[in-house]
Amino acid sequence: MRALLIGPPGAGKGTQAVTLSERLGVPHISTGDLFRSHVQQQTELGREVSQYMDAGALVPDELTNEMVRERLAEPDTAAGFLLDGFPRNVEQADVLAAMLRESGTKLDTVCKLEVPEDVLVDRLLARGRSDDTEDVIRQRQRVYRSETAPLLDYYSDILVTVNAVGDVAEIADRATTALRGQT
Ligand code: AMP
Repeated sequence: MRALLIGPPGAGKGTQAVTLSERLGVPHISTGDLFRSHVQQQTELGREVSQYMDAGALVPDELTNEMVRERLAEPDTAAGFLLDGFPRNVEQADVLAAMLRESGTKLDTVCKLEVPEDVLVDRLLARGRSDDTEDVIRQRQRVYRSETAPLLDYYSDILVTVNAVGDVAEIADRATTALRGQT
């Protein structure tokens, strides 16, 4: 299964992706996690991206796309993957489609985790990551609305929507059913 989780910051993509990737037997690919690991290890890429992450801005597409291209070239993705946090805009989605076309594949499903906005800010403030200050959270929400939300139309023919409010295990069950139902 080649799937992608989409939803505003705080929707629980990272948490759900861990469970879903185990259940579906495909690797979880989180561009946020990959970037954070570069920052932690102080790689050249890490030094380039930290300013964007700290500001709640998107990392430039060339850097992001190249990192994803390398990750998707690894053999564990051959049977599928669960993307989390990529693509974040229409340009990245076009690049992803082209990469998959090169290997004769395509995305099967896009799963939207739906959460009302007031719940999101509370969740993020509770999480306490270094880029989780209120200003940066609001900036990330703005970026989501303007850059990422258009992907819901882009993927409308393969989109499934899951109510992501409530018990984490129940949300995981709903998302598993939604993803499995699509393939
Ligand atoms: P996340 O863990 O998905 O919330 O991502 C944390 C931060 O990493 C974002 O605020 C961006 O600065 C950066 N980032 C993650 N994924 C992408 C992407 N697909 N495109 C650009 N920037 C990204």
